[in-house]
Amino acid sequence: MKLYRRGFLAKGAGIFSVALYNRPKAFSNPNIRKTMSRPLIISTWPFGEAANKKAMEIIESGGSSLDAVEKGVNVTENDKENTSVGIGGLPNSEGIVQLDACIMHGPGHKAGSVMGIEKIRNPISVARKVMEHTPHVQLVGKGAQEFAVSQGFKEEDLLTEKSKLKWLEWKKNNQKKKPEGSIDNHDTIALLILDENGDLTGGCSTSGLAFKLPGRVGDSPIIGGGLYVDNEIGAAGATGVGENVLRHCCSFMIVEFMRQGLPPEEACIQAIKRAAKIDPKGIDLNIFFIALDKKGRYGAAGTGKGFQYAVTTPKQSEILNSAALSDVDAGPVGGNEFDN
Ligand code: ASP
Repeated sequence: MKLYRRGFLAKGAGIFSVALYNRPKAFSNPNIRKTMSRPLIISTWPFGEAANKKAMEIIESGGSSLDAVEKGVNVTENDKENTSVGIGGLPNSEGIVQLDACIMHGPGHKAGSVMGIEKIRNPISVARKVMEHTPHVQLVGKGAQEFAVSQGFKEEDLLTEKSKLKWLEWKKNNQKKKPEGSIDNHDTIALLILDENGDLTGGCSTSGLAFKLPGRVGDSPIIGGGLYVDNEIGAAGATGVGENVLRHCCSFMIVEFMRQGLPPEEACIQAIKRAAKIDPKGIDLNIFFIALDKKGRYGAAGTGKGFQYAVTTPKQSEILNSAALSDVDAGPVGGNEFDN
């Protein structure tokens, strides 16, 4: 049996527990996580903070929230040291970098997505073009790549020396194993904005699970899976094992829980509990969420501890711990793994 893990294999993690670990005391009431100041930007993982800051810069200089989401996420995609998003992202089992991304804009309920795109370092920007310049929502593989080129995107080799070495090492150690076993890092950027007008926009971008089977698509480019934005209610984004997010439509579910009146952190917790209750894996799903509502309340939760997210307002930027539903460690940033 394959068991996904982040950092280490936690024994007994399969038993579903409703206890909340690692819940920062100061934020134990989800309603406290609220800012009256708009714009407000939140994103997954500490590396999201640089993206938030770029997005805030764009908004403060009069740019649109769509520009802010795109250019913010581009910061992470362009970071060659980040091995889970954009250029430098770890490749699939064949050594090919295949990227996934989607974008959603609250006003007009617009969405665009690309999946398994190769040779284009900024899939979020291509997803935006799909949304704005085609009658479609999703483009996949070769078609997505050809569309990107037709829109003026440059093709380049996305496999950096660092990622190539990690892939070669994985290959050497995993020759007899099935290719879906990932032994290295993967994390997604999901970035959500509540702008000055109270409108919501979000984006999500990833290279997916390391050493995945060629053609594998996770949750990140799936509307309602890795990202969902409803301009009347709120927005949610995901990171972690995409297969487990996808099978439960988690980001959509979180927004629906907010629609029923739950504050964001509680909505994330309830979505995880619901998924864990019906899933054979129980709480051992390794999924993590951020959420933001129309009122400016925000929060995050994960199946395990150690997931952090970045919150940025015009006045300050900080990294917060999410609520956690078990003491399974989320591992260091970029620390999810499969164990064959
Ligand atoms: N959710 C991403 C995927 O499954 C990976 C991650 O966020 O760690 O493709």
